[in-house]
Parts: sequence; C-alpha cells; structure tokens
Amino acid sequence: MHELRLHNTLSGKTEPFVPLVPGEVRMYTCGPTVYDYAHIGNFRTFVFQDILRRYLKQRGLKLTHAMNLTDVDDRIIANAAAAKVGIREYTEKYVQAFFADCRALGIQAPEHWIRATDHIPAMVQLIERLERKEFTYASDGSIYYRIAKFPGYGKLSKVDLSGIQAGARVDNDRYEKESARDFALWKAPKPGEHFWNTQIGPGRPGWHIECSAMAMQYLGETLDIHTGGVDLAFPHHENEIAQSEGATGKPFARYWIHAEHLLVEGEKMSKSLGNFYTMRDLYAKGYKPSALRYALASVPYRRQLNFTFDGLEQATNSVARLRNFAGRLKQGKFPTGSPAGFHQQVAEALQAFDGGLADDLNTAVALGAAFDLLREANTSIDSGQFGQEDAAAAQRFLAAFDEIFAVLEDDDAAKLAELGFAAADGGLSEGDVEARIAERQAARQRRDFARSDEIRKELAERGIILEDNKDGSVRWKRK
Ligand code: AMP
Ligand code: ZN
Repeated sequence: MHELRLHNTLSGKTEPFVPLVPGEVRMYTCGPTVYDYAHIGNFRTFVFQDILRRYLKQRGLKLTHAMNLTDVDDRIIANAAAAKVGIREYTEKYVQAFFADCRALGIQAPEHWIRATDHIPAMVQLIERLERKEFTYASDGSIYYRIAKFPGYGKLSKVDLSGIQAGARVDNDRYEKESARDFALWKAPKPGEHFWNTQIGPGRPGWHIECSAMAMQYLGETLDIHTGGVDLAFPHHENEIAQSEGATGKPFARYWIHAEHLLVEGEKMSKSLGNFYTMRDLYAKGYKPSALRYALASVPYRRQLNFTFDGLEQATNSVARLRNFAGRLKQGKFPTGSPAGFHQQVAEALQAFDGGLADDLNTAVALGAAFDLLREANTSIDSGQFGQEDAAAAQRFLAAFDEIFAVLEDDDAAKLAELGFAAADGGLSEGDVEARIAERQAARQRRDFARSDEIRKELAERGIILEDNKDGSVRWKRK
C-alpha cells in the first residue's frame, strides 16, 4: 500500500495523511441544503467525498463519518414561508429525493446522517460557550460573532482582512470574500418566519453554527477531515473554524479537503444559461446512474470537471467495457494455471491503481490502470495464454476497483425504476439476459431454431449481442 497523501487547503500543500488516533478517521462532510433537488455540481462533490470515504475504508481505516442536511437556512425559510408550510414539511420531499439520488449514484450512507433542525440545543449551547468567552455581541435580537476577536480568522481561505471595518456585520449565510464581516450566529425572527424559543432568545441558527455544533457533537472537538466544495471554504468553513476553535481553543479539523466545481460545456451551470441539470433531468434523457457516477468520479477532485454530453457518452461506453470484461472473466473457459504468468501484470495493475488513489485521490490514474489491464487481458485471452489463475487475479482486481468506483453491478434498470424512470435499453438486467440465453440454449437443443433466432433478435433489439463459442457456450455483451 502506498502512503496516502491529501491536499490540505489549510496548509496549501499535499501532505501525508496521518489520523489523530492511529487506524481511525473522523470525517465531516457538509451535506446539501435541502431547499430544492441537488444538481449534478453538488453530486460532483458528493461523489468525490464518497470516493474518499470508500478509499479510507479500503485502506483498513475505521471511519466515523457524519454528513448533515442543512434543513434550515435563509433560502429554506424564504421558500417555506412563500409556500405557507412548515420548514420540516417543505424540506422533507428534498431530503427523500437526496437519499434516493445518493442510492442511485452508489454514494454510501455515512455513519451519521444528521439534520440541523434536530440539533438546535447543541447550537444554542455552542453560542452560549462563545458568549462566555466574549466572542459574541447582540444587536436587534440577533447574535453576531466578532471576527476581530479570533486571531486565526482567514487562515483557511487566506481572505484579506485589511479593508475590514470593525463591527461591520452581515446577516446572509452566503456572502463574498470581499465582504468578510462579523456574521450572525443566531438570527432574530422576522414576521411569518419559522423560529425557536430558546434561552438565548427566540430565533434561528445561522448556517455556519449548524455545522460546527453538529460536527463536534458527533466527532469530537478535533476532526481528522472536513470536506465540501471549494465555494464553501469562504465564508462557511472559515466561520466554522472561528466558531469551533474560539469555543474550544483546539484545532477544529486537521485536513480540509475541497472539491473543485463542475462546469457544463465549459460554463458555470446556471438556470439562466439553460445548462442546469439535476440527476433526474439526465435520467429522463436516457442516461444511466452508473454512467453519471463514472463521469463524476473520473476527473480528479482538484481539477474542474467539464461536464459534457460527449463525456457522458464516453462514460457510458467505459462502464459497458468494464462490465463486458467482468462478464468475459466470469463466462470464459480458461486453461488451468497461468500459462504466461499474466497474474504478474494484474499485481502491477493493482499497485498502479492504489498508487493513483493514494496520490491525492487521482482517479484518472486509477482508471488508467484498470483500462490498461483490461486491454492486456483481452489480448492475452484472445491468444489463449490466459489461465484460470489469471482470471481469478483479474477478478480480485475488479473487486478492489469496484469497492471504490462501484459501477460494475448491472443494476441501472432497477435503480431507475426506483426513481420512476424506465431504462432506455428496456431494462434487461444480467439475470434477465442469462435467463433468455438459457431459454435459447434449450430451444437449440430441441432443434427449434426459429425460436432460438427469435430470442437472439429480441436481445439484439435491446442492445445485447450474443456470440456463440465453438464449444457450444454463449458469450454476451452490451452494445
Ligand atoms: P449546497 O446545497 O449549496 O450547500 O451545496 C452542497 C455541496 O455542493 C457543497 O459542498 C457545495 O460546495 C457543492 N457544490 C455546489 N455547486 C457545485 C458545483 N458547480 N460543482 C461542484 N460542487 C458544487
Ligand atoms: Zn457545513
């Protein structure tokens, strides 16, 4: 196993990853703000953190991972008030949609899914702790954090504080770097808006205090890893550090890992440009969950991901090639042993795969190792030099590969059905195909060639190609 190195926004460097407690990792991911369906940009970040999660586990680390659902913030309050429903009622639909989207994309559930609205007392307690240490002041029923009181302010995002006026405040949860200011920890209620009655007064939490309070409640005062998209570094993560470290006097998170943004055909994704997609928009166009996961995972997280429909087609083909290769290993009849020692190449491919991921999660290198192996193995199989031992080794490689990339299982049709979409290829699963092949074999045995041809034709119409081997067995693949 290679040494794991990760790029830490805090130090600005790619560093060896050493957890605080050997063998254990405590990680926090800023989850979605559930005011609408999450879009493919959001899922770029969530797939990245899933790859990180899966790789930490593959390395044998014991992971405790918490992800929150921001189910109270400015946008939710405004939308729920406009819809004249409570915030819990308003967000429920998007929470369930997010979980379903995660399942379809193979994003593993963290050890703790946590909702902000279930943790108001922890947020209030943290604000009180900050009050006792004089990090806060009240104004018009709201409570603000005094950034001048925290000397480390700006250390994560390297924000320039020279032009800041002491005491200038901001109430919005999301603001630009240029307006670094004292920010709201607790917001006074506005007419018609949802609020909680607490010992620090009526109101609702700011977005930043939510994550500080929940992360520390579930993971302790110092976490190993905190992740999110690059846009969260300022102000959200900077403010999380100020709040948590102000209260505890201890480092809050040791490694801050940020995923670069997804662009669409080279442009920022926005509703006004008409290039804004949710996962469901793409499923409705006939793309499969596995292809989307692959497309989102294939570009290393610190590079911007230029999402294109060409790229999505390529991802579809790449997944089909991998699955066809897995099928060939499973269905093939190989000589015993390892006639040309091919399993050595498999061992090297595994090294290259791990080396890529250990190098700041370079998924492109890891995928390159898989496709190099696939090409060489196919050549070796074609020349009859590939034995059972080689097949077993290649299957072990694919198992390790799929612990991370999670695209080999032929389950798109079922996943789409769960989301209410029909698969473009008629939704034949591996089991369906094999049942049809068995039926065709039976027809051939009773010399019913008309029926056998009919089945071949029907499968071809649904994108499944059959190849009859000389020994009477059948190999199949997707077009
Ligand atoms: P939000 O629901 O706005 O809090 O965002 C959820 C996550 O998606 C955060 O980690 C954001 O940084 C991330 N995110 C938002 N837009 C994009 C994008 N275009 N590309 C990648 N990640 C994004
Ligand atoms: Zn957060």
